[in-house]
Amino acid sequence: MCIICNNSKEQLNEVEEIIIENCEQLTRFPILNNLKNLTIKNCKNLRKIANIYTLTKLNIEKCDNLTDLPSFPELLLIELKFCYNIKNIPYLDKLEEMYIIGNNAICKLDYQYNVKKLGLIECSSLKEVKMMGKLHHMHIIHCYDLIKAPIYDGDFTYYSILK
Ligand SMILES: [Zn+2]
Repeated sequence: MCIICNNSKEQLNEVEEIIIENCEQLTRFPILNNLKNLTIKNCKNLRKIANIYTLTKLNIEKCDNLTDLPSFPELLLIELKFCYNIKNIPYLDKLEEMYIIGNNAICKLDYQYNVKKLGLIECSSLKEVKMMGKLHHMHIIHCYDLIKAPIYDGDFTYYSILK
């Protein structure tokens, strides 16, 4: 049991940061009115995260049953580690940093995201990355199916596709 399972939504509405680890009861993460930073690790039965309008940082790790995410309107940073079954990253209007490490389901990143930093590591089904207006830093490693990656005019500091 975690803070979400143990409290009512009303009790949590003032909270700005939540870290949850190892809760098997958590299946759905609700909308909270002031939440800015959310970290969820190793919640095997989590299937849905509500569209939290205030969220700016999202970090999810080892949540095997999560397949989709909503398009959080204020999100600046998304980090997904070993969430193998997330199959879509929605358009995230304000996103500045995206890191996806260990994923088997995403085939395309085909929105025109405006991220500054992009890291993609071991995304085994990823074939196409469309991007990105403002990129400064890009790091793609062990994405063996990648066919189409962005082309740049310049101001990235690191770019590698290692096969
Ligand atoms: Zn819980």
